[in-house]
This record gives sequence, structure tokens and C-alpha cells, in this order.
Amino acid sequence: MTDIQPDSLEQFLGEYCDVVDAGFTERWKLHTPEIYNNEISEAIGGLAARQATLAIEVGRNPGIWNSNIAPLILRCMTDTHITLAWILASPQDRSKEYIRFGLGQEKLFIEYLQNEADQIPEGEIDDQIEQLIEIRKGWLNSQLMEWAIEVNVGSWSGKSTREMAAEAGCESLYKFAYVPFSGPAHSMWQHVGIHNVVPCKNPLHKNHRIPIIPEPRLDPDFLYRSSKYVSRTFDLLTKVLDLPCSIPLPVDFFLDKHPFQARGGNKTSN
Ligand SMILES: [Zn+2]
Repeated sequence: MTDIQPDSLEQFLGEYCDVVDAGFTERWKLHTPEIYNNEISEAIGGLAARQATLAIEVGRNPGIWNSNIAPLILRCMTDTHITLAWILASPQDRSKEYIRFGLGQEKLFIEYLQNEADQIPEGEIDDQIEQLIEIRKGWLNSQLMEWAIEVNVGSWSGKSTREMAAEAGCESLYKFAYVPFSGPAHSMWQHVGIHNVVPCKNPLHKNHRIPIIPEPRLDPDFLYRSSKYVSRTFDLLTKVLDLPCSIPLPVDFFLDKHPFQARGGNKTSN
């Protein structure tokens, strides 16, 4: 990235974020909301907007284009796409399941907060926790529908992400993006063992590894990947919901306009 003029990078990123924003906005404008089953449009639109939001955050923040942080967001983007693709295959029941599970989780968290508040000794009442409970209860109560009352602690869809991905035609996204990005997202050894330990140089120590805080190395490939995931989501909206759009897909805009030097070979297809 050394040969890039800061101005041209800034301009490219500004335009890129606009393309992502417009790609979502233009498509959703054509969508007719399901008035009698409003959870369908709310779940699908919300997830698509979430995907666009994450893509824009990556575009706005070159400081996070490194192997410490970017994979966390990319993992979330693959999750978002798989969830959306799976819901779109049977929107009426699956959007309800998705919302029901979220409301159950919120109900559970409010119960935790309430128990915590109940244990605070008289005289030390914490206004903040009471306020938090009130605000969260307000949101929950505003959404309660007769079909959405129980707390479900399993997987929201009753399936693993691997199964959902297979059913929604996202198998390669699951294998080559979701799986590798899960390592850093959960701080598992396949990430930590590579990025946060190095071999000790003391020959008497039998090659043990010692912890390090690595210097972040910025790589625009993370932005490229994020542009692919959001494009995949936009493409799905266009195909399944018939929402055409004249704005270029973010990945095409990236490939066409990016100011970065050769981005290195060997990219996987995901
Ligand atoms: Zn040592």
C-alpha cells in the first residue's frame, strides 16, 4: 500500500461505501413489504442492511484490515449471508423462527439483569441497571407477538450453520470463509498459535513458543473479501426477491477502481 496517494485512497473508499449503501437502498426501494406477515420483510431487510453496514464499516476503517480484527467481521458477514440465504428459502416460517429466537435471548438477558438487580442490597440500588432493564423490556414488549413467547436456548434454526449453509447453497462459503474465520472469532489455537506466539530464540529452551502482540499488517484483501460477501448478499436479493439494481456490485466496483498494487496471487474463491 506504500504507493498509494492518501487522497486517492480516501476518495476510493468514500465512493466504495456509497456504492454499498446505494446497492442496498436501491434494491430495497423496489421491495413491497409483507404487511400481514411483517416479520418476513423485517428479518430479511434487517439482515441485508446489517450486511451492508458491516461492509461499509470495513470500507471506512482501513486500520482494521489486519489479521487480528478483519476476520471477526468477515466471519460475521458469512454468518449473515448464510442466515439470510436460509431464511429466503422458506421466508414465512424461518423469519418467525429467527425473530422468535432473538426475542427469547433478549428475554433471558433481561431475566439475568433482573436477578442481578434483585440481589443488590437495599440502599445501593443501581439506577443504571434499572434503566437498562426498563429500556430492554420496552423493546421486547413492543415486539411480543402471540407466536413468540418462549425462550429457546438451542440453535435458532434447529440446525447447525454447516447444515444451513448446505441447504442454502452456501457450502463453499461455509468451508472456505466461515470455517477459517471462526478460528480468530473464537480465539482458537489455529489462529492464536500462528498470530500470537513465536518460537523463542533461546537455543536452550527446546523451541518453545512465547506470546507476542503482533504489529498489524494492513492488507486490502480483507476489504476485497468483504466486498465479495456483501455482493453475494445483494445478488441473492436481486435473484430471489426480484430486486434489480443499476448500481454496480461492490466487488465489481472494487476490482474496477481500487488504487492498490497487485494484490498478490493465490486467492481462494471465497
Ligand atoms: Zn524461551
